[in-house]
Amino acid sequence: MNEEIGCSLVIPVFNEAENLDELITRCLKVCRQSGRSFEIILVDDGSSDGSTEMIARAGKEHREVVGVLLNRNYGQHAAVFAGLAQSRGEIVITLDADLQNPPEEIPKLLQVMEKDVDVVGTIRSNRQDSLFRKLSSGLVNSMVRRATGVMMHDYGCMLRAYRRPIVEAMLQCREHSTFIPILANSFARTTAEIQVDHAPRRQGDSKYSLFKLISLQFDLLTSMSTFPLRLLSLLGTLIAASGMVFATFLLIMRFVMGAAWAAQGVFTLFAVLFVFIGAQFIGLGLLGEYIGRIYHDVRARPRYFIQEVVASSPDQQPLPPKEKHENSCSCLS
Ligand code: UDP
Ligand code: MG
Repeated sequence: MNEEIGCSLVIPVFNEAENLDELITRCLKVCRQSGRSFEIILVDDGSSDGSTEMIARAGKEHREVVGVLLNRNYGQHAAVFAGLAQSRGEIVITLDADLQNPPEEIPKLLQVMEKDVDVVGTIRSNRQDSLFRKLSSGLVNSMVRRATGVMMHDYGCMLRAYRRPIVEAMLQCREHSTFIPILANSFARTTAEIQVDHAPRRQGDSKYSLFKLISLQFDLLTSMSTFPLRLLSLLGTLIAASGMVFATFLLIMRFVMGAAWAAQGVFTLFAVLFVFIGAQFIGLGLLGEYIGRIYHDVRARPRYFIQEVVASSPDQQPLPPKEKHENSCSCLS
């Protein structure tokens, strides 16, 4: 019989060698002080800077640390999923490995969890990121609030706590392009939000290039609803209606002012045409985003592939795929 675990920390790691030692020390300290049984699951997302070896070593050295080593880079959210599948805690807390989410804030989350809340979200009170990142996530957060109606203020902060049944529900989801905070909220009955500290990244660079950020925003957008598709047809109707009004106006003016005036309007027509073409392209692009994701899901490849689970405790061997969840088998289809 496996020992009961009170709290699991799930931490995705991608090239964070400079932060790992401090991260492990601080997490161990905080968790030991909490007085609960705990495990720290470090998921190596295909690092190439020595993080993999450090995680493997920590998994052997500390009874509470479990290293989950993925064979290549799958992205932060897939890595967190791999950690969730390996976790056993009644409460699961996710956080970043770069120490931007101070582990010392974990007790605050646990305290709120005691009030029988399914999900605890966090708001970064003094967010230490670039202005561009702050503005774009402000926009995304307000969009999510409008589309889902779930009142959370900061979906971008990954320092969050989930109760076991929520984690199990998330693991049953077969789609690949997921944004964990939104997925969790869709299963939660009661949620809470607290203010937490946010530290600047001291070592290494952000692992999100502009391209990866845009892709993440699309994951977020498509994972929460098909509202953008509806918006597209609404927008299309509006553009078509205004096009018709404009055409009628041109026709009337042609009769009132004569052919010479109409000839001068040729360029206006071109402008109208360009608006239409532009709208069509935006529409096609958005459709492409959905189709791309459908293609991904239809292929139904495993979301990740764990090469090895490093732990000193014999309890922490990989579970057979069926017991875990259908989606994680040990081979790529
Ligand atoms: N991360 C990951 N895989 C990736 C990108 C990031 O596991 O492909 C991890 C990274 O190591 C960190 C967390 O996700 O623990 C957040 O990444 P980062 O700090 O670069 O994001 P930012 O703070 O810039 O949003
Ligand atoms: Mg960071």
